[in-house]
Amino acid sequence: MTAGNERALARVNVGAVRRNCGHLRALLTGGADLCAVVKADAYGHGQAACARAALEGGAAWLGVATAEEAAALREAEGNARILVMGALTGADARTALVAGADVVAWNEALVDELGDLAGGADRPVRVHVKLDTGMGRLGTKVADRARAVADRVVADDRLELAGLMTHFATADELGDDHFPAQLSAFRAFVDRMRHSHPHVVVHAANSAAVYREPASHFDMVRCGIAVYGLDPFQEDPAERGLEPVLALESYVADVKRFEPGETAGYGRRWRAEAETWVAVVPIGYGDGVRRGLSNNADVLVRGRRRPLVGTVSMDNITIDLGAETDVEPGDRVVLIGDQDGERLLCEEAADRLGTINYEVTCGLTQRVRRLHEDR
Ligand SMILES: *Cc1c(COP(=O)(O)O)cnc(C)c1O
Repeated sequence: MTAGNERALARVNVGAVRRNCGHLRALLTGGADLCAVVKADAYGHGQAACARAALEGGAAWLGVATAEEAAALREAEGNARILVMGALTGADARTALVAGADVVAWNEALVDELGDLAGGADRPVRVHVKLDTGMGRLGTKVADRARAVADRVVADDRLELAGLMTHFATADELGDDHFPAQLSAFRAFVDRMRHSHPHVVVHAANSAAVYREPASHFDMVRCGIAVYGLDPFQEDPAERGLEPVLALESYVADVKRFEPGETAGYGRRWRAEAETWVAVVPIGYGDGVRRGLSNNADVLVRGRRRPLVGTVSMDNITIDLGAETDVEPGDRVVLIGDQDGERLLCEEAADRLGTINYEVTCGLTQRVRRLHEDR
């Protein structure tokens, strides 16, 4: 009855990952490299396939948050340069080192621990020293202390000083004055270090910074969101030359007539005003279609926007088709993506939810099959 349909399908276009990486690389100044950030299962898009496409698209590095992510990546990509950006327990550090990933340190104790773990390895462990210029998370807050941490790395022949980094808090808030302040604090730090460490990789920019300020590109940029064709400024990605990678689809399981006053879903939070047709679509918050979209989203069926009505359930949503409809059971439903020239951006869903596109794709659950296509 619904052959060819799938209940909850994320189509992930790896061709678009490749093109987005190529586009980002073309924006980079001074020969900076692209590190494609593939943490959190590539922002929900599927780590292995996206990492491969990013490398094909010209990324020279892959960035992850956790040691486990690095280990999985190493299985798939034998030779890639991998940077683990997040905090590591002792066990995590061991996992990261076994995976041959670069790691980040911000105090001497951490450097010493890494040195001890590196002990028997046949090559030094590559460490990036992080200065906290105003993100207020990981990183050494005082430049002189960060310099001391770097010196500690250099002094330990089991370790190699591979990079100097920082992370911006407000790169996506165009016109604010915190971003330029962070950039100049980082530049001052780097300028004092570079001559004595000419081979270190200096990196700061996330996706928003890449667009906002070429002076933030340094030797490498760390782009996540833009790789997936999602806009770092929560606007239309097409305006920044980015192509959305992910589409989310379901299908119409049933179409039924509603009389005025009849209601759909838990809590009866939508009531038919007049006679209308309602489609039942078997996808819900168990798939990552958030409950905050209740009475607060559109979906596409037969190339037209239709309002999601009633409460989003764990496994179903309901759609108002209007008094006259040609929609039938089995029709494809698009929740994110395009259909016959009409489109729904992830940024729109994020805006309705009061969140950012990052959280929308990261929130898609394991129950949604990722289908990797190359278009
Ligand atoms: C996640 C992350 C990035 C990527 O940021 P985007 O905004 O997705 O480009 C870069 N650097 C660090 C340290 C991160 O944690």
